Amino acid sequence: YLEVRNLVKYYGEEENKVKVLKGIDCSVEKGQICVLLGPSGSGKSTLLNIIGGIEELDEGEIFVDGKEIGHMNSKELSLYRRNNLGFVFQFYNLVPNLSVKENIEVCEYLSKAPLDIDDLIKTLGLWEHKDKFPNQLSGGQQQRCAIGRALVKNPGILLCDEPTGALDYATSKEILELIEKVNKKYNNTIIIVTHNDAIKNMAHKIMKLHDGKVIKEYENKNIVPAKELEW
Ligand code: ATP
Ligand code: MG
Repeated sequence: YLEVRNLVKYYGEEENKVKVLKGIDCSVEKGQICVLLGPSGSGKSTLLNIIGGIEELDEGEIFVDGKEIGHMNSKELSLYRRNNLGFVFQFYNLVPNLSVKENIEVCEYLSKAPLDIDDLIKTLGLWEHKDKFPNQLSGGQQQRCAIGRALVKNPGILLCDEPTGALDYATSKEILELIEKVNKKYNNTIIIVTHNDAIKNMAHKIMKLHDGKVIKEYENKNIVPAKELEW
């Protein structure tokens, strides 16, 4: 469903040019949750941003549903982003003067096949908070709302870059469990960067990056318990 072939990315110009992705190959099947691990600076965000069409690649190809998206013009790219992608970041990026429900609603116009908003808000566990503003919510609740914004257009792919990076362990675990629930309910393909080990119980695939390369890959079709995995 999602396939990345020999992806290379440089930052900087001329003699200061640094190769940050050094030929990444990976694939994620439809409906899978794939976790990206790796030390700081290994290229996780860069990879996610390129798959998400918010940064350009230098070499290689990316296929989504058989369509090559790595070399599209900007109009095609924005259409691709609009129809296929949801993004969740560490800092929730909510609109401060809109309520939970309104924050989610404003993302709906983007959609081809919008989800039922009330049902989504219930799935997110935000029903009793739906009329509150972001500054009246806890961090975890704000992230739930951000996940709702990313999901309301029912994207084929949901990209999450350290969605629990600003949260404590227990709240992080709740957010990851929400992502798992969403994956089961809406069958989105999910790529997630997280350091919270609760994810090990829900990932279909685990990829470890180091210095711009995939150094380890683990496929887990049956989702065995974390303790049985070798890390
Ligand atoms: P972290 O866990 O700290 O978020 P990461 O694995 O997400 O790290 P990236 O943000 O992808 O790492 O960065 C990969 C490398 O590319 C790093 O060496 C970083 O300094 C460099 N880099 C990232 N963005 C840019 C940029 N816009 N210009 C120049 N170099 C960049
Ligand atoms: Mg990062």
